[in-house]
Amino acid sequence: MNLIQQRNLFRSSLKQHYPEREIDDLFKRAIAHFFSWSSIKVGLEPHYVLLHEEEKLLNDLLNELILGCPFQYCIGTSRFMELDLSVGPGVLIPRPETEELIEWVLAEKSASIATVWDVCTGSGCIALALKKAQSDWLIKGFDISKQALAVARKNANDLSLEVSFEEKNVLDWSNNRQQCDLIVSNPPYVLPSEKIKMHTNVLEHEPGLALFVPEEDPLVFYRKIIEIASTCLSKSGCIYFEINPLLVEELIALGKAKGFPTANIKKDIFGKDRFVKFSR
Ligand code: GLN
Repeated sequence: MNLIQQRNLFRSSLKQHYPEREIDDLFKRAIAHFFSWSSIKVGLEPHYVLLHEEEKLLNDLLNELILGCPFQYCIGTSRFMELDLSVGPGVLIPRPETEELIEWVLAEKSASIATVWDVCTGSGCIALALKKAQSDWLIKGFDISKQALAVARKNANDLSLEVSFEEKNVLDWSNNRQQCDLIVSNPPYVLPSEKIKMHTNVLEHEPGLALFVPEEDPLVFYRKIIEIASTCLSKSGCIYFEINPLLVEELIALGKAKGFPTANIKKDIFGKDRFVKFSR
């Protein structure tokens, strides 16, 4: 089979799963990933005849995609802020919105920041991207999931980024002796009632633990993180959250009630209120 025939097989086999533009994009990313070919090869050499092993790799991937496995889990990596991060079942795939959160943090950074925490770190994406940009920051990531922490530590090691990770159930956090100057967090914030509009490849493959919060107490992680911040965060320090746009107002009221009267909201690229910064 040549490249264009293989691409057409992807298009016809995946048309119920993804829009055509996305299929073409996945195909290009797959050939770049497996064979280190530039994505323009499909355009430049459409009649290149794939070797048997090359065809097999692509067909195995296609079969996993047909079963609904997210592309990043199939290939085992996800690109995030120019970092190639390992991901796999049990770890949330980093989202493009979270890159915007990091850009906001970096755009506003102050010289007084020394210690930074990423609470609910997952793959370590926030902690690692911040370390890559600010090698002088002492950065620590926390997560309840052993599986996520193993991936985060592997990522730190593979990328030679010095970030430490600690197993911590945020909701049980009681040791308030540690101090920090900045907290950045993308905790779980999806309501169970939102499942109906979510893709099955997210629902069936990504960890519910990293996504969902109880319908009756959706800010449970935010409340705890703000409480931790009120004792651990330095006076001039701030908290940057990614948040469900449906919960922004409630979150701002919560921050105000718990000692963080100043809140700034930032929209994501889709124009949704997605990020909140708290300071005192
Ligand atoms: N942005 C993710 C999603 O919509 C959710 C991340 C989170 O719960 N913190 O799938």
